[in-house]
Amino acid sequence: MELSIDLSGRDVLVTGSDLAARQAVRRYAAAGANVFRLSVPEGAAGDGPLPERPFLIAAVDDGQPGWEPLLERARAAGIPVAAEPAAGPTGHVTLVGGGPGTLDLLTVGAVTALRDADVVFYDRLAPYQELERLSSGRLVDVGKQPGHHKIPQADIEKLMVDAALAGENVVRLKGGDPFVFGRGGEEVAACVAAGVPVNVISGVTSAISVPAAAGIPVTHRNVSHMFTVVSGHAPLTEEEHTHLAGLGGTIVVLMGIGTLPQLAAGLRRAGMRADMPVAVVERGYRPGQRTTIAELATIESAASGCSNPAVLVIGEVVGVAMASRNHAAASADLDRLAASLLEA
Ligand code: SAH
Repeated sequence: MELSIDLSGRDVLVTGSDLAARQAVRRYAAAGANVFRLSVPEGAAGDGPLPERPFLIAAVDDGQPGWEPLLERARAAGIPVAAEPAAGPTGHVTLVGGGPGTLDLLTVGAVTALRDADVVFYDRLAPYQELERLSSGRLVDVGKQPGHHKIPQADIEKLMVDAALAGENVVRLKGGDPFVFGRGGEEVAACVAAGVPVNVISGVTSAISVPAAAGIPVTHRNVSHMFTVVSGHAPLTEEEHTHLAGLGGTIVVLMGIGTLPQLAAGLRRAGMRADMPVAVVERGYRPGQRTTIAELATIESAASGCSNPAVLVIGEVVGVAMASRNHAAASADLDRLAASLLEA
């Protein structure tokens, strides 16, 4: 069970060694509490003035024996004691997949990593609007807009590595899954090269979840038993068009708005039917989510007003979604439209 208590202006005593307690201290301070520290077990010197009667004692498990008598006395006096996990080892990087941008599709692992981060380097496609609620660490926007990179990739890697070498618990939060067109592999390699421990928490990729937001299943029994995820960052080669058209399965394209005309023409040249259904799903799970459905021959003009971020889906599964387009997905579109109108 998790309870939310308003701690603003309340005296909270955080016990435990400085290293183990650093994240708990930050979390309670971020929640507005007056934080007092006691970093050595009772009997030795404290860290400064302590409150007469704290509202709450946050007991960080720093592995030291000797805290129990103090905590027992607090409990006996009716002061609540909250057990807090110790901060993890310092100086490492966690690459976290943030999903397509909605809190609902963050993993438990992602939420935990964010909670425990000293610093978060995040992208615009990650669920960044929620970050202040999810992490009390420093939040650094290294986001990029298509076309102009705000911070070069090498600099992002250096920022992460330097923070970890300085002893910080670093989270690199990326949209979707870090290993799907996310340059996650390069960031892992940069950490390994610098001798920084690194781990990866997979995320829900937009390649599957954004079509789903529009009611489109990327596979469907008797309709499509495969899907290929393609980057539309640069136009495909003629050979790639031929291979894709020849597969006969669903084609999912990320970063594909700019190259949609070349892709549609290339697939047509490679023999794909002119009436193959195509969907463009913009801003999945966000205000203003919109789905545009047309045929391969007409999608270029139908999607002329579409913009990034968007996922393209080419294949018969789009027709399945049209046939069964459930009310939930349609009304979710409406809800998001209403939210965007309210925001405007
Ligand atoms: N690693 C990410 C993809 C990064 S490439 C993942 O696994 O999802 C960036 C592209 O992802 C965008 O150009 C767009 O094609 C797609 N994308 C990410 N989030 C999206 C969203 N909420 N709605 C629509 N497309 C999205």
